[in-house]
Amino acid sequence: MALDLVLLGPPGSGKGTQAVWLTEQYRIPAIASGDILRAQVEAGTPLGKRVRSYLDRGELVPDQLVVDIIRQRLSEPDTEAGFILDGFPRTLPQAQALDAMLAELQRPLDAVIYLETDRQSLLDRLGHRHRQDDRADIANHRIDVFLEQTAPLIGYYRDEGKLRLIDGAQPPEVVAAAIEDLIRPLVGADEVPNTRPTTS
Ligand code: ADP
Repeated sequence: MALDLVLLGPPGSGKGTQAVWLTEQYRIPAIASGDILRAQVEAGTPLGKRVRSYLDRGELVPDQLVVDIIRQRLSEPDTEAGFILDGFPRTLPQAQALDAMLAELQRPLDAVIYLETDRQSLLDRLGHRHRQDDRADIANHRIDVFLEQTAPLIGYYRDEGKLRLIDGAQPPEVVAAAIEDLIRPLVGADEVPNTRPTTS
């Protein structure tokens, strides 16, 4: 059985940190839309040139561009055992496009993990990062963009019965343990990686 997850949360809520941990635990790729877009900008591709100003301003890139990127990424064979989406979807049209894609593949999402985090914790964390768009004014704007454009997904996934809520302001290892607790029932017992040393 594949493990198909979405990590939802405002900038600085720890999606990237948790995605890396999940990749190691479950051997499934983390797909971070922001990383893919930044790589395009750095490589100076036509797509990168198109999206650069959105990233610099902390605005969302047009839905169709990101949806196309994710559709292509999900068609790669390493996603067969599952995937962790980090930073996608971020708008209702993106969520609907993802549902349509996954319906076609007959593999609906297993869970959407929402890392609910207060603004001050977010700003404290983003203040310690060194990405160009983590500058205080842009970081604040990205949080507003989340509240306006992405927060509606909370209700969308709650209605689908997929939403799982975790307090993202807790230390990363506490969040990781909470995520593990909610994933355990989703994976077959024989698929849970053995993380403890055997005694015999
Ligand atoms: P964070 O979650 O810390 O804001 P990301 O790396 O996920 O960082 O996103 C950085 C930027 O990339 C966003 O501000 C936006 O410009 C762009 N971006 C990433 N994912 C999406 C998406 N799904 N839709 C539109 N824009 C996106």
